[in-house]
Amino acid sequence: MNISEYLKAERSQSWREELRKSVKAADRTRRERVTMPEQEAAIRATNHLEVNLGLSEEQAVNEAVRCLDCADPTCISGCPVNINIPKFIKYIEGRDFLGAARTLKETNALPAVCGRVCPQEEQCESKCFYKLKLKKTPVAIGNLERFAADRERTSGNIFVPQIATSNGIKVSVVGSGPAGLAAAGDLAKLGYDVTVFEALHEIGGVLKYGIPEFRLPNIIVDVEIENLRKMGVRFETNFIVGKTATFDDLRAEGFKAFFIGSGAGLPNFMNIRGENHIGVFSSNEYLTRVNLMGAARPECDTPVLSGKNVAVIGGGNTAMDSVRTAKRLGADHAMIVYRRSMDEMPARKEEIHHAQQEGVEFLCLHNPVEYLADEKGRVQQMRVQKMELGEPDASGRRRPIPVKDSEFLIAVDTVVVSVGVSPNPLVAKALPALETTRWGTVVVNQENMQTAIPDVFAGGDIVRGGATVILAMGDGRKAVAGIHAYLKGMI
Ligand SMILES: Cc1cc2nc3c(=O)[nH]c(=O)nc-3n(C[C@H](O)[C@H](O)[C@H](O)COP(=O)(O)OP(=O)(O)OC[C@H]3O[C@@H](n4cnc5c(N)ncnc54)[C@H](O)[C@@H]3O)c2cc1C
Ligand code: SF4
Repeated sequence: MNISEYLKAERSQSWREELRKSVKAADRTRRERVTMPEQEAAIRATNHLEVNLGLSEEQAVNEAVRCLDCADPTCISGCPVNINIPKFIKYIEGRDFLGAARTLKETNALPAVCGRVCPQEEQCESKCFYKLKLKKTPVAIGNLERFAADRERTSGNIFVPQIATSNGIKVSVVGSGPAGLAAAGDLAKLGYDVTVFEALHEIGGVLKYGIPEFRLPNIIVDVEIENLRKMGVRFETNFIVGKTATFDDLRAEGFKAFFIGSGAGLPNFMNIRGENHIGVFSSNEYLTRVNLMGAARPECDTPVLSGKNVAVIGGGNTAMDSVRTAKRLGADHAMIVYRRSMDEMPARKEEIHHAQQEGVEFLCLHNPVEYLADEKGRVQQMRVQKMELGEPDASGRRRPIPVKDSEFLIAVDTVVVSVGVSPNPLVAKALPALETTRWGTVVVNQENMQTAIPDVFAGGDIVRGGATVILAMGDGRKAVAGIHAYLKGMI
């Protein structure tokens, strides 16, 4: 059965047909999208608690009623892991919330995470019938995904996927971010003996050390990790593959294949004067110190300097997370400095909107050219230059061009540089036969994620550069299909 035959058969089940008939399509489409409740901006800017509060049961059911259970569910084509979206939403309409969560887990190992951080507005929701044909606000697929996953978690009745009988074959996963976790789950389901090696002391990758608690509480990630443990996945923390042990050491221990999901954790800098002054951080360091090392707490051994005038350089999700964190650490002025205009900003619209509500200032069409320090070497001022937009560049966005004689100084005591990331070169150095690009990303066969080394597969940010959680997970899953085929001698 192919995917469309499968979807058709599922849709024709009597409970779905009855639900469809229970409310006329015209009545469904007349309804307005339910808004996600959130903490008030002035209050949330002073705490680290989650901003979005989640839908109530009634709100979720009301939103689910809007979904038309389309014969051609275009929304699915916008989901990188092809969740059966109408099916899980119709379970919510029918108040079978655990059924909804199980449907999500058929293809998505981390629905509570994705319901919170996926850019649904560019993915499934952008392909919803409401948006494409009715020119209305799409069904709130992400908010419903989050609702169903949270309901399952709080029910205490968390579904542990069935796993095949152990085949005794050892497979190693390098890195415990979303790519590694998705791969580990799928490998366990197939009966492999899986060990995840993680360089840090915490499991979860960027989900833990990057994305702040006010967007993705760590407890949400921990529940998913606990589920993987229940499926038999083993985790080794403080273990750097390539340093603590080499790939050959692990092969000697009996590992027959590897999935590398080691991400892109190496921060880029602009290489301008003064970037090494005290008080200039990379966003990776800044966020990791707060998220993993408790640096927001005054009693912490390695506190983040809680600046009063904080400038965050960049316009992506990481920049938005950093500037909103600075606000929560007590900055009087927390400012985004971005070289293009608001229209080109790559961060999710929701994050920009939330940052604006929380009082973050935006200095667009400006770029820092130098940082100046006081006599103790601590950053004190930033020289910025005005920019204007020229023709579109390779990314399709209009190229920023410096405006001559437009420089001026801004007082700052903390700067967070958030201008992109690259893969850490350690893995590539540990495996010289690995083929890499000039950006340091690993080259794979896109069909099965196999690298130039037959027993090594890779996916997520180490292959794509900084991308998204769901794409990393999709890669992890695709790689498992590749590993399975490799270990069966089929590739
Ligand atoms: C601040 C921030 C906010 C973001 N916000 C969003 C968002 O809202 N929505 C979204 O979809 N995406 C977002 N992203 C991007 C997303 O988080 C990443 O694309 C995704 O986490 C990549 O997953 P990964 O598994 O490839 O790598 P990672 O999550 O980076 O995990 C890699 C793991 O491998 C470990 N590791 C590295 N080298 C080794 C080694 N040699 N041995 C053992 N372990 C190793 C690392 O310590 C790390 O834990 C954000 C990223 C950041 C930094
Ligand atoms: S396209 Fe929109 S309305 Fe149709 S099934 Fe998907 S979510 Fe429901």
